[in-house]
Amino acid sequence: MGRFIHFAGLGIAWVALLASFVLHVSAAAQPASRWWKGNLHTHSLWSDGDDYPEMIAAWYKENGYHFLALSDHNVMLEGQRWFSLTNYRGNGELLEKYRRRFGTNWVEQRVQNGTNQVRLKPLPEFRALLEESGRFLLIPAEEITDRHLTAPVHVNATNLRDYVPPQGGSNVLEVMQRNVDAVLAQRQRTGQPMFPHINHPNFGWGITAEELMRVQGEKFFEVYNGHPAVRNEGDATHANVERMWDIVLTWRLAVLGLPPMFGLAVDDSHNYQTNAIGHSNVGRGWVMVRSGRLTPESIVHALEAGDFYASTGVTLKENRRDSRGLHIEIAAEPGVTYRTQFIGTRRQFDRANEPVRTASGEALRVTHRYSEEIGTVLSEVVGNIAAYGFKGDELYVRAKVTSSKLKSNPYRAGETEAAWTQPTGPMHTSAQAEKLLQLKRPLVIAHRGYSAIAPENTLAAFERALSVGADLVELDYHHSKDGMPVVIHDATLDRTTDAIQRWGGKDLRVDARAAAELQDLASGRWFKPPFPETRLPLLTEALDLIQAASVTLIERKAGDAATLVQLLRERSLVNRVVIQAFDWDFLRAFHKLEPRQIIGALGPPNARDGRKLTQDEKALSSAWLHEVAALGARIVVWNRQVDAAAIKIAHDRGFKVWVYTINDEALARELVAAGVDGIITDNPAILWKVLARQGR
Ligand SMILES: [Zn+2]
Ligand SMILES: [Zn+2]
Repeated sequence: MGRFIHFAGLGIAWVALLASFVLHVSAAAQPASRWWKGNLHTHSLWSDGDDYPEMIAAWYKENGYHFLALSDHNVMLEGQRWFSLTNYRGNGELLEKYRRRFGTNWVEQRVQNGTNQVRLKPLPEFRALLEESGRFLLIPAEEITDRHLTAPVHVNATNLRDYVPPQGGSNVLEVMQRNVDAVLAQRQRTGQPMFPHINHPNFGWGITAEELMRVQGEKFFEVYNGHPAVRNEGDATHANVERMWDIVLTWRLAVLGLPPMFGLAVDDSHNYQTNAIGHSNVGRGWVMVRSGRLTPESIVHALEAGDFYASTGVTLKENRRDSRGLHIEIAAEPGVTYRTQFIGTRRQFDRANEPVRTASGEALRVTHRYSEEIGTVLSEVVGNIAAYGFKGDELYVRAKVTSSKLKSNPYRAGETEAAWTQPTGPMHTSAQAEKLLQLKRPLVIAHRGYSAIAPENTLAAFERALSVGADLVELDYHHSKDGMPVVIHDATLDRTTDAIQRWGGKDLRVDARAAAELQDLASGRWFKPPFPETRLPLLTEALDLIQAASVTLIERKAGDAATLVQLLRERSLVNRVVIQAFDWDFLRAFHKLEPRQIIGALGPPNARDGRKLTQDEKALSSAWLHEVAALGARIVVWNRQVDAAAIKIAHDRGFKVWVYTINDEALARELVAAGVDGIITDNPAILWKVLARQGR
């Protein structure tokens, strides 16, 4: 069930990321930011690569790279290591080239038990030969090479200080998590910025999207790896790695409440002697990182802020993301065409997914099959400049640029050059309603205004609610005969207006009269004491009053969604109010029209399929949350049938829980203790008192 639940804080995930992005950009503002090209995954003779590390580093430096992480299997390039030469590795012409390049004085050789050996230089010894300030940087790294049963689990650690042995674990997820945790623990302990990244998930079909999505603290994985055995493209049974990325992003943001993962491109180079398909060569995949300085710290920070793109050939002049959208400019080569796809998942998406099964029905341990609504192409641009403006209902958007140019020495035949930018999403930072939802104390919500001391749903009651500082002022509306929203609770005018006195009869419906007639009705004479001057307000009048000082909780009693959406848009009130209704079909329709608007689902329903529900069935439960999630609601507004356990479940799934209508101090205290996020009351002053006594 948990995997079907909508997570509400995703706007905030992007706010936090953009904040770190902006922070990073401004911190690096001293030297002007520029792009640095680097590869984070390389092997040398220290493990199973076939060249000396200095030779490898020299290739990268001489071929336009600015940084290189040397990441051998389960070893760091440190300490004494004599390498025994064989016919195949490190010997012959290779050794000659090494000696020519770095000099016979540099290359140390000896004979041990009749075997020729060459000393492998540790990184601290050779880095000074190659590093150049602002030009080329070597970063210590390790490929933590682990497994579960037959599934390889490889985790690169970039800029780590101390060797991390493979941590093991009782399943693939646990193996990933324990290795990630070990790197993060070292970072914590040493204060040195470093990060783990999950390597080549399809290598040995080691890692599924369902496993990858659940790794906590992990910010990166390899969306492209140039090693011929990694199967970036998947096969008939296995999802390709880019598809896995979309599944992972969608679930982390919408369901699991985890931050996004960024996609890296790397070489995973091992073979430096022959360049051909089938060899794991240099120059296939890299990252372009934007930073002011070329230091390990600034590169790590820029990567973590998502200020980079992955490339297999396409170069970007500009790669900008802000609260409005994405903007890309390609450094175009003559005669080459570029297609940019903006790929993402909308907040409302089909969550159904199925394991892949054998003919006999047995579920395979491979990435599930998901709806096409996950990682769908939101728009596509052919040309050198491409932009995407957020509609507001995106969980995330990322861009992939595909070039018409065939890649030289490709990972597989027919591969064309590409680039991937990092996911980002729309934010609602300026929206009052969004801010209210982030408050850490329960919200005080005045029910139909301060209806304990003034006639409900009148400007008088709203004014009084504002004067005691209600966080939100709730009101109800119906449509008049001419389709104008009028503020009143009942469908008839009888109880709260003087309509019967004026017009005679009874059961006088609100929707039987034009707004002009209704506006003239007195709506406070019934109250004790009476408010003789008070008139029935239009929704627009009430909004003008309340929004000047607070936020309106608009409860729709009757009327279509389009009218309300249009009214909010005309007055720039989208997400400066909160919408609620018992009619969940209305909420569904509203959310479709205006997905940015925060809505609350009022419940519990009284009946289902013509059957009255029992008290037990009405209590807030996972099943209700499931249904509410599908509406696009972020708040459940329930009666007092909520308990701490249900509230906890709701919170875990990213919902806020508000309750109505609580006028009793003791009950309010209980509900606050149970963890509710808002209380709707006729008497906001009582609620303030409860909160004050709790020191909130
Ligand atoms: Zn590996
Ligand atoms: Zn590797």
